[in-house]
Amino acid sequence: MNGRLSISRPVCLTGRPRRMRNTGILHPAFCILFAAAASTLAAQEQPAQPARFVVLLDAAHGGDDAGGNLSGQPEKSYNLALSVRLRSLLMARGFAVVTTRESDTTVAPDRRAEIANHAEAQACLSLHAATNNMGSSPAVHIFISSLAPTGTTRLAPWKTAQAAWVERSVALAGMLNSALAHAGMTVTLGRTGLPAIDSMTCPAVAVEIAPGKPADASGSPASSESDVQAQVAEALAAALVEWRSDDKGIQKQ
Ligand SMILES: [Zn+2]
Repeated sequence: MNGRLSISRPVCLTGRPRRMRNTGILHPAFCILFAAAASTLAAQEQPAQPARFVVLLDAAHGGDDAGGNLSGQPEKSYNLALSVRLRSLLMARGFAVVTTRESDTTVAPDRRAEIANHAEAQACLSLHAATNNMGSSPAVHIFISSLAPTGTTRLAPWKTAQAAWVERSVALAGMLNSALAHAGMTVTLGRTGLPAIDSMTCPAVAVEIAPGKPADASGSPASSESDVQAQVAEALAAALVEWRSDDKGIQKQ
């Protein structure tokens, strides 16, 4: 719901109600009571605080699970750095942000999904980085769950809870895709089995940055991994701002 409800002025200031016009004098006490009731109503109907728009950031891997290796840096560290960077961009834009980890700790896929589902997030992003981009241009791979979409069910099986959200996840992936492409990234979209995401009850995608190899001396300078991460974070934040405005009025499932 978006806008405030209209509130009628007390009838004693605008005229008597039709029912009372022929019944004689309107008692002043009625006016006082009515005005008091109306002002209470007005106080109750002040524009509501905008609902918290929660984004879940899941820095993949961590602790015992290093993930891939990016030019000597473990993927788990790159993912955490992206999570921290993106969180600050989102908080500056008024989002509430929940993360699955804040440090180099091992977090099981089920625990990641539990955190996401408890947060009742409107967007869930699992952050990865790829080591298999041998080109010099950065690319971003976006994955959504390969579960077949199903209607909303009150008691979704844990391992396939995402099935009821796949359509929204596809929509979220499309919005991220547009923003990243707009920022000059090469983007690919895919579907795959994702243990944490498959149990999430939110629009959920995995975003995998493939920074590309550093350019050699003769080539045009490629962006550093950190530069690419900054560009991707800005594009993701812009997409989530759009997602938030697009999501208004859409009932959560
Ligand atoms: Zn990964």
